Amino acid sequence: MATALDIAKRNPNAAPVAVSDAARAAGFVEKTAELNVVAGAAPGGASLIGLTRDQLKDSLAAIGVPERELKMRVAQLWHWIYFRGAKDFSEMTNMGKELRAKLSSAYTLARPQVVSEQVSKDGTRKWLIRLASTGPLDKGAEIECVYIPEVDRGTLCVSSQVGCTLTCSFCHTGTQRLVRNLTSAEIVAQLIVARDSIGDWPHATPPEGAFVPTDGGRFVSNIVFMGMGEPLYSTDNVIAAIDVMSDGEGLTLSRRRITVSTSGVVPQMERLGAEANTMLAISLHAVRDDLRDELVPINRKYDIKQLLDACRAYPGLSNARRITFEYVMLKGVNDSDADARELVRLLKGIPAKINLIPFNPWPGSKYECSDWERIERFSEIVYRAGYASPVRTPRGRDILAACGQLKSETEKLRARARMMAEQGIGAEGVYALGDGE
Ligand code: SAH
Ligand code: SF4
Repeated sequence: MATALDIAKRNPNAAPVAVSDAARAAGFVEKTAELNVVAGAAPGGASLIGLTRDQLKDSLAAIGVPERELKMRVAQLWHWIYFRGAKDFSEMTNMGKELRAKLSSAYTLARPQVVSEQVSKDGTRKWLIRLASTGPLDKGAEIECVYIPEVDRGTLCVSSQVGCTLTCSFCHTGTQRLVRNLTSAEIVAQLIVARDSIGDWPHATPPEGAFVPTDGGRFVSNIVFMGMGEPLYSTDNVIAAIDVMSDGEGLTLSRRRITVSTSGVVPQMERLGAEANTMLAISLHAVRDDLRDELVPINRKYDIKQLLDACRAYPGLSNARRITFEYVMLKGVNDSDADARELVRLLKGIPAKINLIPFNPWPGSKYECSDWERIERFSEIVYRAGYASPVRTPRGRDILAACGQLKSETEKLRARARMMAEQGIGAEGVYALGDGE
């Protein structure tokens, strides 16, 4: 936590909001993201990576490309940037030399900087990414992005905010003071960084010995919005990013393989379904309002009943498109047989999957992970009620690949991670998602 706050202090764009334990106890629900960085169309060396079609159009217009050519030029740029993964305008051979020169004097195709890459024994990769500076005093905020390869899919866990506006009591990200929404370009850029690193472009090859899916599909086939931040507090940017990621002429991610996880921002859920048409995951974590008020404080604004009503109304919901309910296993807090039975009762009638997540401790956290026997027992009750609730083999545990924990903090967590590895506890549960088809 201390390190996260240090990073927050370095960034003048951070909303200066401190969350004391007293504030939490008094019912503090959310911090305010004061800053919404506007990306795109800013001449003078700005990167075009991650921009929407409209933003690319504005960027081209700003360097004098005539109106009548704009549509064609956007299509060309789109193909080079998002289909081929071009890193330099000189690759864009179907554009005239003069235009390429203009482009490279005004813009770049720079990616956010990869500060570090950690590769787990099991092939999971974690990147610490430094975002471009947003102003003269900003050194660039840092976010993490995790890639989890399996034989038949590769899942990328992306962040939607730096820090989080919410303050869930078991979540490390919630303790971070710095909060700003990522731009849609910064969200998309995480996918570009991942594709660069694992060679997921036509004519590129993965690094020597890298574990990537072998089913002939793309190496990144699934996206989960389960990194830092609450995606539905940045709905516009998340929807715009999903539009870019799922565009059939570019990055071509299937919307059914994109899962947005929310702590329960009820008023935004319908819009997500209607406009982004993605899979939905709900961080439920408790089956009673008094407990959920404490664990997931947004529950004080939108309680369990309102949340589940919004789930029932989620556009496109069917047995083929189920909502995933995430449930973090906290020892002695929410893990009793009665909790499991109530969970099953609450979800009755909602096409659902249940994802039991072993709790990841962090320095200063007041919870412990439930014992394995307890998790198994809980899972059995849920399973008997007809829900698959696998607690999967932990992945990436040797590099503590839990979303939302900065590397500098994970250094400190090494000893803890080793302990967890010995006990077979990892963050896998968080990522066992996103296979809508
Ligand atoms: N803010 C969004 C998405 C990011 S969190 C949300 O809350 O849904 C992704 C998942 O990890 C959520 O279900 C979150 O509750 C869970 N999580 C947070 N901290 C955790 C921890 N310490 N151990 C295990 N899961 C955690
Ligand atoms: Fe934010 Fe999600 Fe963490 Fe809650 S669990 S503090 S909503 S990132």
